Amino acid sequence: MSAPCFALHGKRVWVAGHRGLVGSALVRRLEAEDCEVLTAPRDRVDLRSPDQVTRWMAIARPQAVFVAAARVGGIHANDTRPAEFLYDNLLIEANIVEAARHAEVEKLLFLGSSCIYPRDAPQPLKEEALLTGPLEPTNQWYAIAKIAGIKLAQAYRRQYGCDFNAAMPTNLYGPGDNFDLLQSHVVPALMAKAHRARIERSPVMTVWGTGTPLRELLYVDDAADGLVFLMQHHSGEDFVNLGTGVEISIAELAATICRVVGFAGRLEFDRTKPDGTPRKVMDVFRLHSMGWTAPTGFEEGLERTYRWYVDNLGSQARAAG
Ligand code: GDP
Repeated sequence: MSAPCFALHGKRVWVAGHRGLVGSALVRRLEAEDCEVLTAPRDRVDLRSPDQVTRWMAIARPQAVFVAAARVGGIHANDTRPAEFLYDNLLIEANIVEAARHAEVEKLLFLGSSCIYPRDAPQPLKEEALLTGPLEPTNQWYAIAKIAGIKLAQAYRRQYGCDFNAAMPTNLYGPGDNFDLLQSHVVPALMAKAHRARIERSPVMTVWGTGTPLRELLYVDDAADGLVFLMQHHSGEDFVNLGTGVEISIAELAATICRVVGFAGRLEFDRTKPDGTPRKVMDVFRLHSMGWTAPTGFEEGLERTYRWYVDNLGSQARAAG
């Protein structure tokens, strides 16, 4: 692994979106970096407001920024709240990038998503596949906003010489995830359903879609570690995929989650629900060549996530039972 081109030691580092899944993992990870972690209080800084973001940045004076703030959600939320997913995300990223330029932030890392790639792009998804074809319709609103974020980082680099960069994390899961069945992504949704089915001694649990789609899943603390690595080691117009390169079918994922949770009943596939994109796995050649790979095994990540769910959402989890 090469020596860092950007040291975080002694720096003021703003994690925008510190209460989210990846933002909170970044705050945990940065504790090991001997830097000052800055977070913007949600009740005082609405990231959709240019004035509030500019004011916050002028006071906080971060030297490095992770743009982990976004309106996020699973396939149902994306499909049913397109305006919020597009408008909120465009405003959040544009405000932070512009304010970071004025505040002379030394380095910024924008977090995109694997859904930026065309639905029918060759798999595994290479960084070069961006904008080579139409998007998956169920999450196109979020994807368009994230593509705009990548382009903002590139444009500010070209026009103003800002060291603004982007990373594309794959589907994430882990402690701190949203377990609400209508808003969540597949891992927390299936975990909450399996937990409930076990507690209720139900013979069956429902999985959306056909079970055939393939997804790549990255444990969120690994994602945070990879993002810190990229902040330290990568600078350039080219963005970098952040994933494992390993994929699993939704049916296999459901069976693994049931094993971790201890639910031994039957799986029923609800084909009235959308499958979304048929396959989504990242090409991680660029990341691996830089010297970083994800350390946490899949079952281990699921076990830690389930422990967090039971410990932290215990009352909710028990109420569900
Ligand atoms: P996506 O990766 O953007 O499609 O987002 P999700 O994580 O929400 O969904 C991934 C896949 O899991 C899709 O094929 C869903 O149909 C499938 N899936 C199966 N059961 C569920 C569930 O209970 N909730 C969610 N969100 N997805 C599910």
